[in-house]
Amino acid sequence: ADHSLVYPPSPDQMDWSQHYPERIPPLGSEEYKKQKEAGTLAKVEIADVGCGFGGLLFFLAPHFPDQLLVGMEIRTSVTQYVVDKVQALRLASRRSSIGGNGDTGKQEGVAGADAAANTADGTGPTAAEAPNEAQINTELVHSAPGVAGSYENVAALRVNAMKFLPNFFHRAQLSKLFFLHPDPHFKKAKSKARIISSTLLAEYAFVLRPGGRLYTITDVHDLHLWMVKHLDAFPLFERIPDDDERLKDDVCVDAVWNATEEGKKVVRNRGDKWFAAYERIKDPEGE
Ligand code: SAM
Repeated sequence: ADHSLVYPPSPDQMDWSQHYPERIPPLGSEEYKKQKEAGTLAKVEIADVGCGFGGLLFFLAPHFPDQLLVGMEIRTSVTQYVVDKVQALRLASRRSSIGGNGDTGKQEGVAGADAAANTADGTGPTAAEAPNEAQINTELVHSAPGVAGSYENVAALRVNAMKFLPNFFHRAQLSKLFFLHPDPHFKKAKSKARIISSTLLAEYAFVLRPGGRLYTITDVHDLHLWMVKHLDAFPLFERIPDDDERLKDDVCVDAVWNATEEGKKVVRNRGDKWFAAYERIKDPEGE
């Protein structure tokens, strides 16, 4: 239940150094103050809401080496799986950079990473749920050819993303927000439980900077229509047509379609997927 979740009272009180120790100094330390004053403090810019097993994050992390990515996931064991995998990938990356044997090191590293993530302590996902290890290894290695990420820029938090998002992020802090295969909550009475709603869109628009992008994908057509309906109706979001030039060189589009575990399951079951991307437009004058 939610009461076991801890939220920072405000974004300034969130100690991100626990999640990105190589990138962010401990909250309140001299170095932290120095970087904050100089305006050089690193901050999260990419958030995957309901990240599941983290496929999108692991795919994108090497593509955005200078930005910080976070997955927000409500299930404890699933979050722990991602956290363990991040740890293992970081270790593997450090080892392979010490060894200096490039690709081979990376592949071994990734295999080791998954082994470590899977054997954590029995709290991991069930065998049926967990992504197939061999499959992840292959796909991770192929996802970013030549890009041997350090994975110091990726983390996962256990949070209810439908609550207190502005406690984590400042206004306009994020450049990308992902809602990939969100839980559909089919029953009408349950529609408030959906992660896209008018109320929540106001929060997403708040944390997303003008020009930033929001992406959704689902294999549930009704849910797609619902999300598009709400996003279209929301004044601060504008749909980017699927064939728009702006999406052609956007690596996130490929990631959204192909990198998540749920998305891969849909492909294995030969299901359809519906995609939508939105741009966070500028605030109206005077606001
Ligand atoms: N995005 C991943 C993918 O495409 O593979 C996972 C999709 S899975 C169907 C939906 C995920 O959203 C689950 O892991 C679930 O635990 C998570 N979730 C549901 N409600 C959430 C909430 N309020 N906050 C954070 N995560 C949530």
